This record gives sequence, structure tokens and C-alpha cells, in this order.
Amino acid sequence: MNKIQMTTPLVEMDGDEMTRILWKAIKDKLLLPFVDLKTEYYDLGLPNRDKTEDQVTVDAANAIKKYGVGVKCATITPNAQRVEEYNLKQMWKSPNGTIRAMLDGTVFRAPVLVKGIAPTVSTWKKPITIARHAYGDVYKNTEMKVSAGSKAELVVTTPDGKEIRQAIHDFTGDGVIMGMHNTDKSIASFARSCFNYALSVKQDLWFATKDTISKTYDHRFKDIFNEIFENEFKAAFEQAGIEYFYTLIDDAVARVVRSEGGFIWACKNYDGDVMSDMVATAFGSLAMMTSVLVSPDGKYEYEAAHGTVTRHYYRHLKGESTSTNSVATIFAWSGALKKRAELDGINDLADFADKLEKATLETIESGIMTKDLVQLSTLPEKRPVDSMEFLDAIAERLAGMM
Ligand code: NAP
Ligand code: MG
Repeated sequence: MNKIQMTTPLVEMDGDEMTRILWKAIKDKLLLPFVDLKTEYYDLGLPNRDKTEDQVTVDAANAIKKYGVGVKCATITPNAQRVEEYNLKQMWKSPNGTIRAMLDGTVFRAPVLVKGIAPTVSTWKKPITIARHAYGDVYKNTEMKVSAGSKAELVVTTPDGKEIRQAIHDFTGDGVIMGMHNTDKSIASFARSCFNYALSVKQDLWFATKDTISKTYDHRFKDIFNEIFENEFKAAFEQAGIEYFYTLIDDAVARVVRSEGGFIWACKNYDGDVMSDMVATAFGSLAMMTSVLVSPDGKYEYEAAHGTVTRHYYRHLKGESTSTNSVATIFAWSGALKKRAELDGINDLADFADKLEKATLETIESGIMTKDLVQLSTLPEKRPVDSMEFLDAIAERLAGMM
């Protein structure tokens, strides 16, 4: 069989622990037999980040800027315990944080649906993708306790030195206050990432804030989304047959629960934090959650939403069998290959990525699954398998399709 050829390399970012083991196995068993895989490899495993003083993370992010598409394995974000465990020169920053800061993107998270694992919300038939704004609001706030008799004001010093003051509250008893911000630039980036992503997956985009109550702050989000949509995306949305829809956050929550799914739900930072956990849990499992970072200028970085599955890795090191779910990591690869195929116009690569996803889902639907899914699945016949048996079963099915 001739292997599928690629023209532009994918930016491949290797990672840590159990997911690093799965990463290599996915390549060996599911990709290399079928695709003449062209990647530019960056080892973001913690030892190499330490060795290169984290330069490798910066280089990888620059490579995504250059080529447009990357795929990333889960990585350790070091804490004090990891500094000791890996004898690190310093507590390196989160690679995802570094890459996100350099690409200035929005993270989209979507569940992978399979028969036998039913969403808790019975009306949901298609995945709901959460797009979370990842800058500002309550995550970059200033807050304090105030005592009875205090007068709190909002004070802004303009560039020419003028002070603008607005009363917050005259406290007759003790209380609390908070100041927070966002920037037009960050909101506009968020909006463009959402519109671009909606076009790339051809799904409707919903956005919601509390602009009836927050008439300046939340209203600014609504206005920026609206302006960018009208000026830059309206025609493309019409052509793609999709819709941009704005509503109040409380109305959105009610509609989401009554919906069939199959759309993107753009959320302000806090709403996204809360709603993504609600949506992920209601759809089933973190191990089945895909994640893609999309920059406002249309660069894509695919990964699994979960971490390096440390507890399984320690068992693996002791020579014990593990049953780690590789679905989200497989879908990170298939997502990245599909995007590369689309950008480079390689139909058989897109077709391969579809078949890889299909083989993965059919394997689970045939009853062969990792232990985490056995607990969730309502299929009558289920066979729990270990990490490698699961990949072998997918490989066999995939070979049959090719
Ligand atoms: P985690 O790796 O997501 O794992 C938490 C638990 O969830 C696991 O112990 C396991 O439960 C279950 N789980 C997660 N993924 C699974 C999978 N694919 N298959 C089966 N079970 C799965 O989160 P963590 O333990 O909090 O973090 C571990 C390391 O990952 C940390 O160093 C953290 O910095 C890093 N991390 C990286 C990323 C990223 O790169 N995007 C994201 C989050 C965390 P059981 O043990 O009960 O089976
Ligand atoms: Mg959270």
C-alpha cells in the first residue's frame, strides 16, 4: 500500500508521562503505517524544557505561527513537588500558557460522542463546543474588604492626568469590593477566533453575556462581537449556511439544555470556566474531551483536554498494566491532520483522518474500551482492555478500512 503523502509539516509537540507513552504508540500503531508523516518535532517533555530553559516551548509556538497547525501531547506544569522530582533549574511556566500568550487564542473544547455513553441531558444529540475567553474579568481582579463607614469609588486617571470618579457604594456596614477589566483588543481577538472557528467547523455560534445588568462592561462584549460580525464575517456565515446568535446568559443556559447540541457556545472567562465543566461532565468524561486553541489570525493547536495521567504512569513504571484512554489524544492528531489536509488540499489525508476517528468510535461501540469507559457505557457486552490492546484493536479496524 502506498502511504499518504503530506506537503507541509505538522508542528508536533511531545509531552510527559502516560500521555508521552500513548503519543509514541499512537504514531507507531495508527499513523506511521498509513501516512508518510511529515512533522517538525519539538520535545516539550519536562526534561527537555528544563535543558533548553523552556526555549523549546517558544520555538514550538513560533513554528505554529509559521506553519499554521500544531498537535500537542499533554505536558506537566511544574509545581514545587515536580521541581524536586525532576531536579529542575526553575519552576517553568505552563507550556499551554506560554503558547496561548504567543498565539493570542481562544480554547475550544468539544466532547467526543459514542453510542453507549449517553449524555446526562437526554435532548443532546450532537456535541456542544465551549469557546472560553481566556483573558481578564474576575481572573485578573483587584478586591478588598471594606469596613463600615467607608466610601468606595472607582477612580480612573486619564492620559492627560484627569481623574474620573464614580461612586461604588457608601458602606454603612462591613463589606467587599472588586475591580476588574478587559481590553477591546482581547475581546476582539476572542470574537474573531470564535467566528473563524465556527466557519471552519460550519456550526452556529452562540454568545451570551449579562448586558441588561452590566450595561457598559458586558455590553462592550456584545457590541464588539456584533461589529466584527457585521463588518467581517456576515457574508461568509451566510455562504456557509450558519448563524451568529446573541442572547442573555440566563436565556442561553435554558436554551442549551433544551437544544440538540451541534453548535459553539462562546462564553466570557468565568462563564466558560463554569459551563465547560458542566458540559464536559454532562457529556461523560474528560478523557473524551478534545481541545483546540485557535488564534485570531487562524492558527490551530490541537490537544487532549486532560493532563498527563500521572497515576497511570507511575503504575506503568512499576511494570503494572494500565488502561488509559487515548481517544482525546487520537482526536488531537486526527483534528490536526484534517486541518493540514484542508489547508494543503490533500483529500486522501482528510479521508484517512475521518477513518481514524471512525475506527476509534467503532472500536468502543463494538464493546472494546478502556476501564474509564466501561464504568459509563450502557452497552450490554463490554470488554475492558489495557492501553495498548485498545490501540491495537483500533489499528486492526483501521487497516480494514484503508
Ligand atoms: P489528569 O492527568 O487529567 O488526570 C486526572 C485523573 O483523571 C487521572 O488520574 C485519571 O483518573 C483520570 N484521567 C484523565 N485522563 C484520563 C485518560 N486519558 N484515561 C483514563 N483516565 C484519565 O490530571 P492531573 O492528575 O490533575 O494532572 C497530571 C499532570 O498533568 C500535572 O502535572 C498537570 O500539570 C498536567 N496537566 C496538563 C495539561 C495539559 O497539558 N493540557 C492539562 C491538565 C493537567 P484515575 O487515576 O482515577 O484513573
Ligand atoms: Mg475550572
